Amino acid sequence: MARPDRRVNLAVARTIPPFLLCVCVYACYIVTKPLCIDYLIRPLPKYSRGSRVGAGIAILVIFYILIVVVIITYLRLLYNITRNPGFLPRSSPPTKEQQETEPSERPQRRKRKHRRTRTAEKPDKTDIDIERGADGNADGGAIPLDITGLESFYTKDVFVCQEDGRPLYCSTCCRYKPDRAHHCREVDRCVLKMDHFCPWVGGVVSETSFKFFIQFVFYTLIFCGFSLIICATFTAEIIQDTGGANVHLAIGIGLSSLFGLFSFGMTISSLQLAMWNLSTIENLNRWSAVWTLAIRVPDRMLARLGPESRWAPTFRTITYPLPPVPLSPEAARDYQPPEKQHVFAILQTLPGENPFDLGSPFKNLQQVLGYSIIDWFLPLKQSPCADRTTGDSFYELGPVVSRLKKEAGLNPPSESQPTTQNDTERKHKRRRSSHRQSQE
Ligand SMILES: [Zn+2]
Repeated sequence: MARPDRRVNLAVARTIPPFLLCVCVYACYIVTKPLCIDYLIRPLPKYSRGSRVGAGIAILVIFYILIVVVIITYLRLLYNITRNPGFLPRSSPPTKEQQETEPSERPQRRKRKHRRTRTAEKPDKTDIDIERGADGNADGGAIPLDITGLESFYTKDVFVCQEDGRPLYCSTCCRYKPDRAHHCREVDRCVLKMDHFCPWVGGVVSETSFKFFIQFVFYTLIFCGFSLIICATFTAEIIQDTGGANVHLAIGIGLSSLFGLFSFGMTISSLQLAMWNLSTIENLNRWSAVWTLAIRVPDRMLARLGPESRWAPTFRTITYPLPPVPLSPEAARDYQPPEKQHVFAILQTLPGENPFDLGSPFKNLQQVLGYSIIDWFLPLKQSPCADRTTGDSFYELGPVVSRLKKEAGLNPPSESQPTTQNDTERKHKRRRSSHRQSQE
């Protein structure tokens, strides 16, 4: 059964869009009739003022241009939220065998059981992702040994994982979660780079809609600012002339202040998150979150990981593809691992580090808003971070990952810091051009 707060959120989500439409219609009425027609263009006799046609028409033009821009960005946002919300498909629950763990894992599992109440995902628990605290994204609790869908992870160079090297798992959707995906209790699905459930737009703001959300709140802020200025200016004038205020204009001041303040807060906080390359959910524990990452061990280093090697790595590793489970002792003996193996080092960031921060607020903003000024202001193209055509990682990674690789010795010895930066720059450009191609 839906929890009360979830039901409230869904009910609010359905009520608010029609309410906003009514507010827009009323705002149009206030500015057109009582302000521009009855006061500026053809003043009613009670105002004892001359006609100001120019001012009236200028205000009408600017007002309607702004409201059309707000409506267009709102519709673009609604379109993406309803048609391209970034939901991940659910999988079928793992079989009973897959839910068994190997005997060697049992002690570990018992230890984790204590944590499970705090960290494992359950229905209606988006908060789980939020509450991971120092474990960061790392611990999904005791999860079934499901091996389906892992190819899309181990064919990348880096992905977010649990402490044992497997990707994060959502036990509600029965699937591994790509980096930064979270389970949303309102829609009961995992959502790619979920930001928040927004009742104002009746859906989940995610990687496919965050850019349009920022544009919507930004243009709403400008629209409300303009409405507030004209309503307040002419209300003051009317009070001076007649001693009383126009009730519609007074309501206009109230509405534009209220929505203006709200959109101001949302614009500032959304831009700040985009500059930090964090989602609202990730921001909740940004100072304590520890990210566990599986980082590919280059092929040339694999020989050094063998038992006879005298070189001792400082990290744990995991080798994909994982063997099918459960394996009987006989089957385990006969098991032939596939020829092509993908070995990953399991490395952790320091608390508060963000592997997705590209090192500069401008580069982080580009990941959300786009690479050109037109992309920043027009609600046309998708965010570059939602582009899945380049496959080294789910999202572009920043200096934190470069540092982890360097510390673990995963970079070629000749690769000093400047070369690494050049590489990052090159990757950045490659993503840029592939993003452009995908848009064309
Ligand atoms: Zn889920």
